[in-house]
Amino acid sequence: MPKIVIPTALRQYAGNTAAVEVQGATAGEVLASLTSQHPDLKKHLYDANGKLRSFVNVYVNDEDIRSLQNENTPVGESDDISIIPAIAGGAEPLPDLTKDEIARYSRHLIMPEVGMDGQRKLKAASILLIGTGGLGSPLGLYLAAAGIGRLGLVDFDVVDHSNLQRQIVHGTKDVGRPKIQSAKDRLSDINPHIQIDTYETALRADNALDIIKPYDIVIDGTDNFQTRYLANDASVLLGKPNVYGSIFRFDGQASVFYPGGGGPCYRCLYPEPPPPGLVPSCAEGGVLGILPGIIGVIQATEAIKLIIGQGEPLIGRLLLFDALKMKFRELKLRRNPECPLCGENPTIKELIDYDVFCGITPPEPAPKVEVVSDWEVTPAQLKAELDGGKKLTIIDVREPHEWQIGNLENYGSRLIPLGEFSSRVGELNSDDEIVVHCKMGGRSAKAYGVLKEAGFTKIRNLKGGILAWADQVDPNLPKY
Ligand SMILES: [Zn+2]
Repeated sequence: MPKIVIPTALRQYAGNTAAVEVQGATAGEVLASLTSQHPDLKKHLYDANGKLRSFVNVYVNDEDIRSLQNENTPVGESDDISIIPAIAGGAEPLPDLTKDEIARYSRHLIMPEVGMDGQRKLKAASILLIGTGGLGSPLGLYLAAAGIGRLGLVDFDVVDHSNLQRQIVHGTKDVGRPKIQSAKDRLSDINPHIQIDTYETALRADNALDIIKPYDIVIDGTDNFQTRYLANDASVLLGKPNVYGSIFRFDGQASVFYPGGGGPCYRCLYPEPPPPGLVPSCAEGGVLGILPGIIGVIQATEAIKLIIGQGEPLIGRLLLFDALKMKFRELKLRRNPECPLCGENPTIKELIDYDVFCGITPPEPAPKVEVVSDWEVTPAQLKAELDGGKKLTIIDVREPHEWQIGNLENYGSRLIPLGEFSSRVGELNSDDEIVVHCKMGGRSAKAYGVLKEAGFTKIRNLKGGILAWADQVDPNLPKY
């Protein structure tokens, strides 16, 4: 017999069962069979005229019946039918709006797609924002302004000057403050009617489920793969939609991962993270400051559509944005039946160690005495050697546009970008003592490996790169 999966919010009206076997050959017939077994469900699924309520979506397997033949959609013996109510505003009575709120939200209230009911759903809704940085800034600003009743902010970072080019929820006066404090102040000023919860912590495997649980929707505004997989896994395990966005230089992506809503999860799209170092972060590769604005606003739009139950969500679709071409493209995403998390035989049933999964060695507790391996040189030591007149060949393996920001040319440094390094090794003399450096030490470690391979022995890597040099030796050197 076909089976109907009952969403958590409606289970209390269906004898607290998660799935009900039903009879019928069409979507309409199986729903009729369901409501005859559980009459209490009827008023939640149908309006007074016997029409399926607009905020109730019915899926046959992965397809919304509205894209098929509505209630006439044929249903086979082995089909799974899912009922997906809009996220908030299913079974619970909706909160009323005060006179002040009605005035504030009037441009929403006069739109039939939102109206009083939609605005009350927004007030009833809760959203967790993971990260209050580039994506979290526009997300927080617009979701607060839209009247989302409860916003949770997770971040452990403090505002830095280099954030202000894109993290528009923070101001210059906030530099040095915890981001969640700065964001909370700004969002409360935009809308004092909403509740803002702050979690000054990194999202980790041991706190993610507790933090996410009270919220209707998770929005992923993270900038690293560990947190991205963690947010995905925790959302799937808790049955929450996860509104995804990511940005790099001029390119952005957005989607809604919601296996409970018939779509795939992040692991269906990317089963495994790239090896560490292969995909540069925004801190290494840069990002156009406006880009998180565009992608974050798309994420906020999707969250609001999910809550008011309007339009077609980005579930099962990956939106790709190219700011240079000013083009959007869309890919269809399918749920992977073999997905270890949301597939048919899941192997991931609890949160795992995401540093290990992403191939990242967790930082060791800070040693009291700084340990420098023999292949590294600290900025202070390098400075002392140079001041002492030691003859060193300093090679900068960054890109030319990074060299222009600041460099060690005064010490005879030369630029050989990492991408050209292998083919230009011949320009170097293995009799010389060579020090390689980049921005933070990662790329130059690769150059070190190239030299070692080529038979060089007198090579060292500048520990912490030119940023550490700026911190420890030359405070006049611009940091980026
Ligand atoms: Zn999956």
